[in-house]
Amino acid sequence: MPQSYKMRSSFMPFSQPLIGDEEIAEVVDSLKSGWLTTGPKVARFEEAFAAFVGAEAALAVNSCTDALLIALAALGVGPGDEVVTTAITFVSTVHCIERLGARPVLVDVEPDTLNIDPVKLEAALTPKTKAIVPVHLYGHPVELDTIRAIAAARGIPIVEDAAHGASALYRGRMIGASPSIAAFSFYPTKNMTTGEGGMLVGPKAFVDRARPWSLHGMSRDAYARYTATGSWFYDVVVPGFKSNMTDLQAALGLHQLRKLPSFQERRRALAASLDRAFAGMPEIQRPTERPEVHASLHVYVIRLVLDRLTIGRDEFINQLKARNIGSSVHFIPIHLHSYYRDKYGYAPGDFPVALAEYSRLISLPMHLRLSDDDLQDVISAVTDVVDTHKR
Ligand SMILES: *Cc1c(COP(=O)(O)O)cnc(C)c1O
Repeated sequence: MPQSYKMRSSFMPFSQPLIGDEEIAEVVDSLKSGWLTTGPKVARFEEAFAAFVGAEAALAVNSCTDALLIALAALGVGPGDEVVTTAITFVSTVHCIERLGARPVLVDVEPDTLNIDPVKLEAALTPKTKAIVPVHLYGHPVELDTIRAIAAARGIPIVEDAAHGASALYRGRMIGASPSIAAFSFYPTKNMTTGEGGMLVGPKAFVDRARPWSLHGMSRDAYARYTATGSWFYDVVVPGFKSNMTDLQAALGLHQLRKLPSFQERRRALAASLDRAFAGMPEIQRPTERPEVHASLHVYVIRLVLDRLTIGRDEFINQLKARNIGSSVHFIPIHLHSYYRDKYGYAPGDFPVALAEYSRLISLPMHLRLSDDDLQDVISAVTDVVDTHKR
């Protein structure tokens, strides 16, 4: 490191949630009320979230993973079926398909957004295709109109992995807006958090069909049974999971959702500062935002222009860490993980765009706990690594 570079004194984590006094007071209120599991706050959170994205109905669960699993189970996905998804995503997208005994069919990504490539998606469909699971990667919406047209022509349902997509817009409408079936994540790194949590949104008839899958397949939830108007009787209609959201989580979610628009304003300002800082740096490729979308900016992913640098991505990350800046990679392509590689016999080059782009991805810190000075530290560190290692 050159003498002129002034390193920050403490390590900056890649991501940190922002929890305010309102969230804390609401959780305490739940603890004092005696209603800890799925209850009135979950019902309110479902209503508020459905209204926010413009969905007919919502089902709150304990993760986006389970929201995806429940959606696919409710669509009847099982052994002998194929479900088409993208090669670059978090592994849980693909695990959901695998756990239902169906075959995940991976599709390569578009070079600019790194979202599933609609042309290759269409080529991957077979008579066995039971569903399509596109992922709004980094919060940049997929090409929904094209994918919907391809799916509708064959009567195949779409389940959107919107883990990154809360408050993203596609052609002026929120991701999750009717008639989408979409699964959101409230994991602590995501745009809003409930600690752990997720939300499935969709047409009311679909969400009604999905709901029993979230709680043992029981036809009514605890809130309906244990209140004054409730009854002890329930029927079990499907072999459901244990995926219900608790009121403690919903207590967080109600306030995080209310704050989400202001969170997004801040994210947009942070991303704009990073964009400006890297605009004159040919060694760094900045994230794409197509004109027809408004990305939710879940993560800020740069791509290294490798032939302009003397170091690769892994060493770049080490160099950032040596400057007290945490970073991450979203994501290791699915076909490189040993489980999927070995089970389905994938070679690294089977998804050439995913492979090539993966080797140059770095997600920089861009979270709501960053001050302007913190962001400047990120910019200075990246600039210094580039200056030290450019060709
Ligand atoms: C985080 C994430 C998930 C899973 O969300 P959880 O709420 O942690 O289950 C699914 N898909 C993608 C793309 C994710 O990033």
